[in-house]
Amino acid sequence: MGATASGRAVRASPPQTDGGPCTTWRRALSIVLDTALPSDCLLCGRMSHGGAALCVRCHAGMIEPAPRRCPRCAAFVASSSSADARRVPLCGRCQTAPPSYDAAVTLADYASPYDALILALKFGRQLAVANTLGAALAERVAEARDAARLPPVDCVAAVPLGPRRLFARGFNQSEELARALARALSLPRRRGLLARQRETPPQARLTLAERQRNVQGVFTLSRHARAHDRPAGLHVMLVDDVMTSGATLEAAARTLKRAGARAVTLAVAFRTRQ
Ligand SMILES: [Zn+2]
Ligand SMILES: [Zn+2]
Repeated sequence: MGATASGRAVRASPPQTDGGPCTTWRRALSIVLDTALPSDCLLCGRMSHGGAALCVRCHAGMIEPAPRRCPRCAAFVASSSSADARRVPLCGRCQTAPPSYDAAVTLADYASPYDALILALKFGRQLAVANTLGAALAERVAEARDAARLPPVDCVAAVPLGPRRLFARGFNQSEELARALARALSLPRRRGLLARQRETPPQARLTLAERQRNVQGVFTLSRHARAHDRPAGLHVMLVDDVMTSGATLEAAARTLKRAGARAVTLAVAFRTRQ
């Protein structure tokens, strides 16, 4: 099975026995057809266009119309005295223990049916999902910026994978999201700004304290960034696919702040309900 830039179900590539002009033309034709022809929406099966993973209706439905989320960590805030949905107060956790990042945006809760999109991206290698989610996140960022809830962002960077996991998967889904988001916002992408010092075991079954210990000191500025391109004074938009406890993103944001970043805003496709 191969990665595809279209929203079409991933299909097996034909065996490639030669690299001659015929094969090259066939591949080129396949890319053109993949982007030009309609394909199936991954959520409802209706037709989507332009290689998008979702149809127009599912794309619009994925972006919460009036998110009641903490502006700092994007946690869902159930009730608030504020009548203005655009001015949701900080959640209790951010009030008592403010995180290193300054703001966070997300599309929706990490729950059905959107968890299937992340699975399709990470394990089905459907890279069109990253384009769709990146473009949707850009809408959310633009909305926050237009409502003066987000100061101008200087660059976009992804939470890195460790080399072993990157090799096994062949791509970093957060980097793919960052690429799409940066393109949609016309912002520079800082590839390889952060480096992962060690692989961390999956965090799913750990408590918050264990997660925090698990990721302690796991990120550093990459060697290149340390030597030539520190993010001093910059507002960095840090991208990840899913935010659960926030421990990983906190560790990454702390590293950026220690390296001199002026501000860090998280852009995560989905966030688990706490
Ligand atoms: Zn659909
Ligand atoms: Zn919060």
